[in-house]
Amino acid sequence: MEAISILEKIEETKVLALSTVTRDKEPRVRFIDLFLYEGQKVYFFTLRGKDLFEQLLYDPSVEILFSHKNNVQVRLRGYVKRLRDTEREIYLNKMFNKHMHLQSLYPGHARDVGEIFVLSDMEIEYLNRSVFPITRHLYTIGNGPRSVKGYEVLDHCLGCGICVRQCPKKAIAAGKPARIIFEKCIDCGYCMECCPVDAIRRRTCLNE
Ligand code: SF4
Ligand code: SF4
Repeated sequence: MEAISILEKIEETKVLALSTVTRDKEPRVRFIDLFLYEGQKVYFFTLRGKDLFEQLLYDPSVEILFSHKNNVQVRLRGYVKRLRDTEREIYLNKMFNKHMHLQSLYPGHARDVGEIFVLSDMEIEYLNRSVFPITRHLYTIGNGPRSVKGYEVLDHCLGCGICVRQCPKKAIAAGKPARIIFEKCIDCGYCMECCPVDAIRRRTCLNE
C-alpha cells in the first residue's frame, strides 16, 4: 500500500485524535473533527484562546491517530505550521464551508480568532491487525520525521533458528544472521529474550 493512499483514508474518518505537549512537557490529547484533507496535507481549526493554540505555538510537534475500518490504525507525526494572512483566510473559508456547524458553534467575531494549522511534512505509520501476520509500514513524506523502530539481528547470530520457531507472528526469516521482517513484527520483544547469545536488540538501542 502506498503512503498517499493510506493518507487519503483520512477523508473517510470523522474524528482524529490529536496529541500535543504543554510547556511543562505534559502530554495532551483530544478528538478533533474540524479538519480537512487537501493536497497530501492535513489542515485543522482552532481558536487563539484555546490551550491547543498555545501548545502548538510552544511546540509544533504533533501526533495524529485515526482508525480505518476494524483494527487498522494510522499515525501521522510531524511539525505543524500556522497559516498566515491570505492563506489563513482561504482555509478558514474552506473549513467553514466544509463544516457548516462551525457557523453556529463559533458565531460572529469568534471566527476572527479562528486559526488554521497544517501538517504537511510527516511520517505515516500504518498498522493492520486484522490480517495474519499483521502488516505495518512506515513512510516519510517530505522532511517529516524518520523513526527508528523494531528489532534487528546482530552479526554474531549463530543461525540456530530458535527465534524463528518462537516468534508468534512468523516475522523472522531463517539464516545466519536471521532476519526480522519489520512489516510482520509486533515489537513484542520475545525473540530478544529467547536468543541464547543476545544477538537481537531493539533498533532504538543503536541510538542510545
Ligand atoms: S535465536 Fe539468536 S542466535 Fe539463534 S537464530 Fe535467532 S538471533 Fe540467531
Ligand atoms: S519482536 Fe516479537 S513479533 Fe517481532 S520478530 Fe521478535 S518475536 Fe517476532
